[in-house]
Amino acid sequence: MRISYSGLETFSNCPAKYKYQYIDRIKTPKSKDAVFGTLIHECLRMFHDPSQTTPFSEEELLKYFTEKWNSEIYQDKQEEAFAFHQGIEILKKYYLQNQNISFNVVNLEILFKIPIQDKLHQVTGRIDRIDKLDSEAGTFEIIDYKTTKKMPSQEMIDKNFQLSIYYLGVINQWPYLQKENRPVKLSLYYLRHGEKLSIIGNKQGVKETQQKILDLINQINKSNFAPISNPLCDWCQYQPYCPLFKHKYIKEKQPTANEEQIKNIIKEYFEIKDKHSQDNKRLTELKIVINQYCDENELDRVFGDNGYITRLSQQRFTYNFNKVKEILEPIGKWNEILTIDKTKFKKVVNSLPYDIKKQIDQAKKLEREFKTITISRK
Ligand code: SF4
Repeated sequence: MRISYSGLETFSNCPAKYKYQYIDRIKTPKSKDAVFGTLIHECLRMFHDPSQTTPFSEEELLKYFTEKWNSEIYQDKQEEAFAFHQGIEILKKYYLQNQNISFNVVNLEILFKIPIQDKLHQVTGRIDRIDKLDSEAGTFEIIDYKTTKKMPSQEMIDKNFQLSIYYLGVINQWPYLQKENRPVKLSLYYLRHGEKLSIIGNKQGVKETQQKILDLINQINKSNFAPISNPLCDWCQYQPYCPLFKHKYIKEKQPTANEEQIKNIIKEYFEIKDKHSQDNKRLTELKIVINQYCDENELDRVFGDNGYITRLSQQRFTYNFNKVKEILEPIGKWNEILTIDKTKFKKVVNSLPYDIKKQIDQAKKLEREFKTITISRK
């Protein structure tokens, strides 16, 4: 299989989106954020272009951005003005932070290929910039620009899959870096925040990254490409094809004959849910009043026209399970009472190293599959 890093990332976020984009190859217009991000990348490419005799001044950088700006993709003037302002801010900040640094740019927008499993598979990608760092014993710095609004924690960067893939891409291009165990700085530059978060790539993580890639490729080969609702859904261009969103589009563009019926059913479902939660709230209030009445009159049972209500004294105990274990283990009964706390289990598994997580994952089997219904309010 030949797959790009973005393909792997897309599959990890949502298998359905991966299918629409990379298997069905459904063409969709680029999102506003993607167009914005591409223009900012282009500006920075111009700023660092080693073939320019003199580097871009701030004025030239902003002029380039303004000339390439596409106002047509925005819904209204206000939205466009906000996005344009954001772009200018990003570039001004970048210029201010970088104007006096003399970069030794090795290359820009470099394509890489990583052979996996004896070239059976190939992962491809594009690195925004590679610099040579003279000050750090001849190592290189790989830089990827981000225009996202959120900046992750350093802990997340330490485990960042994209950076570990980029490292594989670089050592495949220059194998001596790995052979000589030369550290490579791997950075994500969060442009809106003006912060560059870095880790040092080295050969220790190589096997794990290769294994992760292979696991993802195997998952893709076995996948039924079910949609996974995730924070990026709001920006997904495939909503009209996705079972989680396409009803919105059917409703607007080609309403079916039973649309009115399902609309009423949804309305009724919400009403019953609302009534149910109101009833529960009222039941809690009534219980408080009944308890107070019983306390004041030393009663444990009260009679009404349609029956009576009894309150029972409940006691909860906890055991010293170390002692219980001492008693039950010798008679072979201890294991019979052990149950797994699934919430705690998931928490522990998430904290484990990748290879152990994988072994645990392989131990799971599908018990049954069923659909549940949840509601989300507007
Ligand atoms: S809308 Fe969300 S769930 Fe549907 S395909 Fe896109 S990312 Fe996946």
